[in-house]
Amino acid sequence: MELRFSREDEAFRREVADWLAAELAGEFSAVRGRGGPGDEHALTRERRAWERRLGAAGWSCIGFPREYGGRDATLTQQVIFYEEYARAGGPGRLGHIGEGLLGPTLVHFGSEAQKRRFLPAIVRGEEVWCQGYSEPNAGSDLANVQTRARLEGGEWVLHGQKVWTSWAQWADWCFVVCRTDPASSRHAGLSYLLVPMRQPGIEIRPIVQITGTSEFSEVFYDGARTAAENVVGAPGEGWKVAMGTLAFERGASTLGQQLAFANELAAIIETAKHNGRARDPLIRQRLADAWIGLQLQRANALRTLSGGGSQLSREAMITKLFWATWHRSLGKLAMDVLGPEAEIAAAAPYELTPLQRLFLFSRSDTIYAGSNQIQRNLIAERALGLPRDRR
Ligand SMILES: Cc1cc2nc3c(=O)[nH]c(=O)nc-3n(C[C@H](O)[C@H](O)[C@H](O)COP(=O)(O)OP(=O)(O)OC[C@H]3O[C@@H](n4cnc5c(N)ncnc54)[C@H](O)[C@@H]3O)c2cc1C
Repeated sequence: MELRFSREDEAFRREVADWLAAELAGEFSAVRGRGGPGDEHALTRERRAWERRLGAAGWSCIGFPREYGGRDATLTQQVIFYEEYARAGGPGRLGHIGEGLLGPTLVHFGSEAQKRRFLPAIVRGEEVWCQGYSEPNAGSDLANVQTRARLEGGEWVLHGQKVWTSWAQWADWCFVVCRTDPASSRHAGLSYLLVPMRQPGIEIRPIVQITGTSEFSEVFYDGARTAAENVVGAPGEGWKVAMGTLAFERGASTLGQQLAFANELAAIIETAKHNGRARDPLIRQRLADAWIGLQLQRANALRTLSGGGSQLSREAMITKLFWATWHRSLGKLAMDVLGPEAEIAAAAPYELTPLQRLFLFSRSDTIYAGSNQIQRNLIAERALGLPRDRR
């Protein structure tokens, strides 16, 4: 197991860091540190421009194959990029779902025509994507999807409702899991469709969250259309593709996030020093515990990387459960460090401080991309070989 980065990787790190520092000090200084969870509505026009800038400079989707606009970067280099991005205060990525979820899915499961049509547009920051999986009765039990689609005159026509669709209101396209075989049930008969968002058959209703903002929406499909060729994998075999996407969602893109978490912990420690809470012995212990948890995440990420570099290994299974639980506790610690001040909004009517946003949004970390309970089931069944969970 190699827990150090190579000399080439460190040179790559410097190149990324220099580029980001220069860009975020110049034309894009306004977006620095903006657009994260609970602040996702901030400066969307400027952040779209940032996506295009990243693409033009070759710093978007660096893991994509060269022929589709990427750099063929190794997993280690991708993680280095995510780390430096966090360290530099890079803004919340509007392109995240295209880059981290749909892109790798198309590379693995898409047709050549789909790769050529969609990947370069993601790289150039021209098309923003969202993920249409969850429904009112299909969250953890995703196989219960009821949204239907059928072929009509060379197009898929969709009817149904999705919910919790992050960034739907800013997205140009959505990958939608729907039932295309009306006689099917559960995992069979589902298809993975690529659907343009800006059309009359789609209604988006943003949901106000506890942050006071709307990171996700309800999305109603009432005769929405997409071309027959916009199905990834064979019709009826969407489950396999959907699970592939989930593996990407829980994997690579989260390996570099400890640097963003380290920034948050540093802000909490600064606050504790400033307001005197750093002298409270229990707070001190929790701060030290938080730091230890961060080191464990880093060690686990490095161990995962050293396990082969391109394929995510078993360690990836515990990554989601560990970071989500740790991060939720960090949010609570931030509030306890603030004390009574935690309850006072930064400005009327409901403008929150970064630490308040951290606390409120981190409540969702143990839910999205597979809840903690579901992660434990996966570990039980796949890592420990225990009997399957009763459905
Ligand atoms: C911030 C945020 C962003 C999201 N973005 C998206 C998105 O972009 N696209 C999208 O499609 N979805 C998105 N989701 C939805 C997310 O994937 C679901 O919320 C999640 O899968 C849980 O499903 P559910 O909400 O239906 O809860 P349920 O599945 O109804 O679960 C309710 C509770 O029961 C527990 N539970 C359920 N089944 C079991 C079981 N078998 N064993 C033990 N416990 C169980 C769960 O852990 C949970 O505590 C997002 C969610 C959040 C919070």
